Amino acid sequence: MRHLTAGQHALIESALLQQLHQLDRRLAEHLGGHTRADHARQVLQQDGDDAPQREPERELDQALTDRDTVALGEVSAALARLRDTRASTGSQRFGLCADCDAEIPFDRLKLEPWARRCVGCQSAHERAGRA
Ligand SMILES: [Zn+2]
Repeated sequence: MRHLTAGQHALIESALLQQLHQLDRRLAEHLGGHTRADHARQVLQQDGDDAPQREPERELDQALTDRDTVALGEVSAALARLRDTRASTGSQRFGLCADCDAEIPFDRLKLEPWARRCVGCQSAHERAGRA
């Protein structure tokens, strides 16, 4: 029950790969070539001595890095779902809503290949999350 043509499939795959690449590069820049662990250690050391003043710039940087890390996870998960077309029970099929199993339209997937829910379920989910 695949609703994507081979062409659409390829298009989404390349969009995801591109996104993955972009996030990867941006994260590397944010961390200045350090690993995440190094980065954390560095922040700890800097905050160690005299009355640690919170630097808004560093916090913003950390927030961006965290967001990119989450996005990176989403994108790679979507790529894994996309490639595993024989996904068995337990793992979500790419392009199908996680909640109601509806097919997510290609137009939406084109813009947000990592979408896990159809529009209806997504907004219900967001409403629930906010409550
Ligand atoms: Zn749904």
